[in-house]
Amino acid sequence: MRIIAKVLYINGPAHGHINPTLGLVEELVRRGEKVVYFTTEEFRDKIQKKGAEVRTYRKINTSQNFEKHGSIFNLAADVSSTAKKIIPDILDKIKGEKFDYVIHDAMFGAGKQISEILGVPSICGCAAFGPSETVKRILSGSKFNMFKTLIKGIPGLIEFKKNSKYLEKIYNIKYPGVFQTIFNKGDLNIIFTSEYFQPDSDALDQSFKFVGPIITDRAELPDFPFESLKGHNVIFISMGTVFNNTLDFYKKCFVAFKDENVKVVLSVGSIIPITAIGEIPKNFIVRKYVPQLELLKYVNIFITHGGMNSVSEGLYNNIPLIVIPQFADQPAVAARVKELGAGVILNKENINPEILRQAVQEIFRYPSFAENSKKIGHSLRNAGGKKKAVDEILAFRDNKCMGMSQAISIKLNE
Ligand code: UDP
Repeated sequence: MRIIAKVLYINGPAHGHINPTLGLVEELVRRGEKVVYFTTEEFRDKIQKKGAEVRTYRKINTSQNFEKHGSIFNLAADVSSTAKKIIPDILDKIKGEKFDYVIHDAMFGAGKQISEILGVPSICGCAAFGPSETVKRILSGSKFNMFKTLIKGIPGLIEFKKNSKYLEKIYNIKYPGVFQTIFNKGDLNIIFTSEYFQPDSDALDQSFKFVGPIITDRAELPDFPFESLKGHNVIFISMGTVFNNTLDFYKKCFVAFKDENVKVVLSVGSIIPITAIGEIPKNFIVRKYVPQLELLKYVNIFITHGGMNSVSEGLYNNIPLIVIPQFADQPAVAARVKELGAGVILNKENINPEILRQAVQEIFRYPSFAENSKKIGHSLRNAGGKKKAVDEILAFRDNKCMGMSQAISIKLNE
């Protein structure tokens, strides 16, 4: 007898949220689950290649305003506004269908609410740290102290309250509070990091399972001159795929490293035209998007914004980091990298070429940064990956879903 469940996967429209789920989807499908995956058109290809049926919801405009996101309340307002738009759209597109369980992103709350509306269990696939007290503390006051955060976030708090009341009334659900909107806890929580890298992991309950970053071929290999990096010290610089509108910073990187004996790869994202950064120094390769997983195999130092995926991917490859956190959970990720001695943190407000050069020199001078990165890397590579993630999901499914009247799982004779 074999059980096949129908899974509704709901995720946000961002590489950082989609990428860590690709291997998970691949393994779920390999083990027989039928996965219907909701995101936006941009990500269809790479998810479809992993065997899921991809459906899309309406496009959402993510705010590019760093200062706005300096407050957790404004972030919660954005998440709840998105939920308000996306929930009816998805419900419409699954009308009449039944699912056994929902897997949703921690920050893209619409998925969690849809599981409640459908009355099926929820599994959170989380590309960030689990919400331990240390993480919450850093998130709440990531840039300002709590009071300033509150003042700055009043408009966000009002909008959040309005949205949450609306959603509760329309769908007869309990909408989460401010922090829980940023981390929508599921009945089971698959965390894409290791117990070692997670701050105070033992304070999280048994529903949290650490599986490490699920690194898998993303079938997206933009052309890249890897050959030219061989035999050189390589610095890779990326501010990720969302908040990368940092033209001044890129210019400072040119000044900092143009005369140094290193090769520098700079990924600038899709917002800034490469021509806007000025003349590209000879030792730089500048691209809008690079094949990061492949590239990291050549890299000695990674200058990153502290996005959880980039940091995990860097550490997975034993690379010491210079972290320049921009917003959201990035200060918490940066703090953990520093605490475990795998890199240094720079303040984005006072970056200049000299500070960048000094940070690179410091990392090259002290081997402990690379050694500590290797230690975290070891924990990430040995956390179980997609196999453990799907073992946990299927055990949970068998425990929780199959007795439910909603379940539509098909039982086949082997
Ligand atoms: N990425 C990539 N090439 C690039 C820039 C980013 O492949 O040029 C990938 C990177 O490997 C990671 C994701 O995009 O998996 C970025 O996620 P992260 O959490 O680091 O940051 P975000 O983009 O969400 O801020």
